[in-house]
Amino acid sequence: MELTRLDQIRAAEERLLLSTYDRNPILFVSGAGVHIADENGTKYLDLLSGIGVNALGYGNPVILEAIARQSRALIHTSNLYYHEGQAELALRLTERTGLDRAFFANTGTEAWEAALKLARAHAGILRDEGKQIGTRFLALEQSFHGRTFGSMSTTYKAKYREPFGPVVPGVEFVRFNDVADLRAKFSNEVCAILVEAIQGEGGVRPLTQEFMAEARALASSTGALLIADEIQCGMGRSGKWCAYQHYSVQPDITTLAKPLAGGIPIGAVVCTEEVARSFHPGMHGTTFGGGPLACAVACAVIDAIESQGLLANTTLVGDYFQEQLRGLAKRHACITDVRGKGLIIGAELDSAALAKLAVAEMLKRHILINCTSDTVLRFLPPYILERSHVDTAIAALDEIFTEHAALSGAHSATGAAAPSAGGHIHG
Ligand SMILES: *Cc1c(COP(=O)(O)O)cnc(C)c1O
Repeated sequence: MELTRLDQIRAAEERLLLSTYDRNPILFVSGAGVHIADENGTKYLDLLSGIGVNALGYGNPVILEAIARQSRALIHTSNLYYHEGQAELALRLTERTGLDRAFFANTGTEAWEAALKLARAHAGILRDEGKQIGTRFLALEQSFHGRTFGSMSTTYKAKYREPFGPVVPGVEFVRFNDVADLRAKFSNEVCAILVEAIQGEGGVRPLTQEFMAEARALASSTGALLIADEIQCGMGRSGKWCAYQHYSVQPDITTLAKPLAGGIPIGAVVCTEEVARSFHPGMHGTTFGGGPLACAVACAVIDAIESQGLLANTTLVGDYFQEQLRGLAKRHACITDVRGKGLIIGAELDSAALAKLAVAEMLKRHILINCTSDTVLRFLPPYILERSHVDTAIAALDEIFTEHAALSGAHSATGAAAPSAGGHIHG
């Protein structure tokens, strides 16, 4: 039997790549709008958008034109010279974050590394000025900040850190949304408090207003920094440019990446004037970061989000999505919570096995979602999502949970999630 193209690629990857991913057996070749298509032309409704990256969907002319225009002119210069893009993008980001200065990297984790380095350097300056401030970081339980050493060391899950120990020392984790624990662990040994306004990887968990306000107040009381990782929840996904803007709190530093250039790799750290004085030429840098191509595309994406009213759309369609999921939760007790803001949405299920099954069953119905934090179905669709797409997803989930309940014989509202042995169990 002849091997399919997918089989050939799988076999080659098996031989040639490091084993870091457990990929779904699908070969994607093209996309348009909210749909992505495999090599057979089968279209999938993409509610994950490449983990929150393809904010404008696939094949968006705004992005294609910006890539074409800028790549004809100039793709790379290095940071030894000027090009037109960095100031243009920095202006857009400072206006939208309420912060003053930007540095550009290539990925989320690099932006986060820059934020951690800024915090350490800033504390050093304060010490030189006679203030008592240490070098420790307070991160949150269930946090995710990336895979490089500093980022990994501030990431909560042991499986991401332990194989690589010793990790960067001086990081302590605070219980999520636990103000008393935050107060107990904070001292002038701390140089920064690290938060995601809405934890993404950690299960789409929003911080409470009280916790965010207390983190700000504690940091301000000693000169420590509040750093908001907006790599997943930022750049409009929550319905505002930054998810922290849903709180009456301004951080000292924020990091942006995933949707920033609509699929072209880029990361950014944006900070206050006070923090910016920590860096001088030579202290930090990157070969590729802030290149002309990525900057031009990011500017085009931001302008499109604005001109096409996509912040309003993420709120409108996101609210509708959550409303529909809550309706579903009334019919299926296996859905125990629905959370999020705009188009970062999580639906918590009562079992990890069921969450895994739901993702697989959605895939069979040609809808892409994923599961994070074991039991949470995560939706990170493109900002151009429409209500009809939500209806398609909800109908599919309804069918999946109904079938599962029938199979596991759980007609009552307990939503038992014991994996079926494959046969029909009669209730
Ligand atoms: C994805 C993510 C990162 C890491 O970004 P990469 O581009 O994968 O390095 C960091 N923080 C948060 C909140 C993220 O969601």
